[in-house]
Amino acid sequence: MAKKFHQPTRMCLSCRERNEQQNLLRLQCKDGEISSFNGVGRSFYLCQDCLKEDKKIIRALMRECRGGDKDKHMNKLKEIITDDRKS
Ligand SMILES: [Zn+2]
Repeated sequence: MAKKFHQPTRMCLSCRERNEQQNLLRLQCKDGEISSFNGVGRSFYLCQDCLKEDKKIIRALMRECRGGDKDKHMNKLKEIITDDRKS
């Protein structure tokens, strides 16, 4: 049974569940700082469910960025989410 509309799925860094790419926020960690993906290098995804749970994602972020400042990561993430909703 072939699906007519195949949606590419990506895995959420935090919960490891697969989700359609459009439901995920694509991010990257560069020089220990989180930013939205700019098309170059390594990236990772976070799903909308995880984005609501700071404690859950901070562990994933710390792992992905290999440490850093938790508050800084969270503030940056909130900024990215806000910008994302504006556009
Ligand atoms: Zn998730």
